[in-house]
Amino acid sequence: MSPRLLNVAVIGGGIGGLCLAQGLTRAGVHVTVYERDLSPDSRLQGFRLNIEPTGSTALHACLPPALWEVLVATAGDAGSGIGFLDERMRPLIHIGQDDPGHDPLDPATGEHAVSRITLRKLLLARLDDVVRFGKEFTGFARATDGTVTAKFTDGTTSTADVLVAADGANSRVWSQLHPALGRTALPAMAVAGKLFLTEENRRWLPHRLLAGKNVFWPRKDFLFTAVFRRREDPAAIIARLGDQVRGLGLDPEHLLADSHDNDYVLWAFITHRDSLPAGYTSNADDDPVAVRELLTERTAGWHPDLRRLLAESTPDSLYRTGFSAAQPLEPWETGNVTGLGDAVHHMPPVGGLGGNTALRDAHRLCTALTAAARGEQPLAQALRAYEEDMLRHGFDTVREVVRNTEAAITRSAVKRSTARWFFRTCGIIPPLGRMVFGER
Ligand SMILES: Cc1cc2nc3c(=O)[nH]c(=O)nc-3n(C[C@H](O)[C@H](O)[C@H](O)COP(=O)(O)OP(=O)(O)OC[C@H]3O[C@@H](n4cnc5c(N)ncnc54)[C@H](O)[C@@H]3O)c2cc1C
Repeated sequence: MSPRLLNVAVIGGGIGGLCLAQGLTRAGVHVTVYERDLSPDSRLQGFRLNIEPTGSTALHACLPPALWEVLVATAGDAGSGIGFLDERMRPLIHIGQDDPGHDPLDPATGEHAVSRITLRKLLLARLDDVVRFGKEFTGFARATDGTVTAKFTDGTTSTADVLVAADGANSRVWSQLHPALGRTALPAMAVAGKLFLTEENRRWLPHRLLAGKNVFWPRKDFLFTAVFRRREDPAAIIARLGDQVRGLGLDPEHLLADSHDNDYVLWAFITHRDSLPAGYTSNADDDPVAVRELLTERTAGWHPDLRRLLAESTPDSLYRTGFSAAQPLEPWETGNVTGLGDAVHHMPPVGGLGGNTALRDAHRLCTALTAAARGEQPLAQALRAYEEDMLRHGFDTVREVVRNTEAAITRSAVKRSTARWFFRTCGIIPPLGRMVFGER
């Protein structure tokens, strides 16, 4: 087989679409990204994104090496392992310990709490000619010559050999391809917030909340915490990596502007909607005062430091959301329209796996398209193998996240007590804990 000129159009310049564009550009495959946002900085910061080894491996493979190093340097450390505790902060089990010899640059083991702004800047770097902003996709049409044409709200069109749905949870591309697409709404309500690590807060916060991730398993509801602490200061990063970044034709000062969001403890409280007080309607989700009152009421009897964490968090950091998950798809014949990330397998944010899965997809789709462009594999065969793997892994992850969400919000006293007893027993008997949770 001889190499072919492949023209790839990606709808959506989010995490997955941009990672794919970086990888294809690095491999010399022609790609254009169409993003509805009007400019690169149309987005607010929000919470840091936890990138696990799956996501790290993809970013390491797709980004130029210097940008990967900048990403690791600007990221926060996720801390040591995961603690399981009860609502009085009594430890049940702790999984994973500090590994002093661990190299954060090793993508196979690294975990990175990255700023969404910095990640977006790194993913956009050197893609000025690739990403078109202000392009809102409305639909596609396939031609008999094997090409596909995307249409946009501004009346323009673009024709490509392959169209990629990377337009997130409410994907228009994917819903045109799969009109019967279903989604399950989960009966969960979540509130998340940030407590910044000021000198004062560092003094009273208990060690465990400053040390890593924690899962609190009360008799009802659920709380997750994680600490985000920068690894390196922007000035130190510029001194160390500035020349490499300039070597890519980029300005390190611009790249790192806004990367220094302050360190903080993130928390996420999750509850079953049906257990909310009678007067609490979904309208109250948008009322910070009602949400705070709810948290105060639901955490009565919890350890005072946990209650203080929730009560003293920065008011405008409060984020409320419901949860939904994509339903598995009926099989279809692979064509010239494919997809990745949330567009295909949207999942609740519990466990922070959605972005990692989107990055994994991007990396694998990049490998498939590159193989087709180089003439190593027919395009249809490469895309079919990609889709099989993407769907299996994506929907396995959706199922895992839905299971974890259901466990977190279960109202069955028996199930909750059994879980607490089980974690505690695994904590008391380390060989059992290792058998169940692995060495991690
Ligand atoms: C509170 C919260 C915390 C999270 N934390 C984590 C975490 O720690 N780790 C993790 O892995 N995941 C996390 N996630 C999930 C993660 O953010 C998503 O799974 C991830 O962003 C999906 O990437 P994507 O590229 O598929 O879609 P997105 O990042 O949503 O990108 C889609 C892009 O498509 C564009 N678009 C949409 N429609 C159109 C259109 N019609 N035309 C053109 N462009 C369009 C959008 O503007 C957007 O830029 C979290 C989610 C939430 C809500």
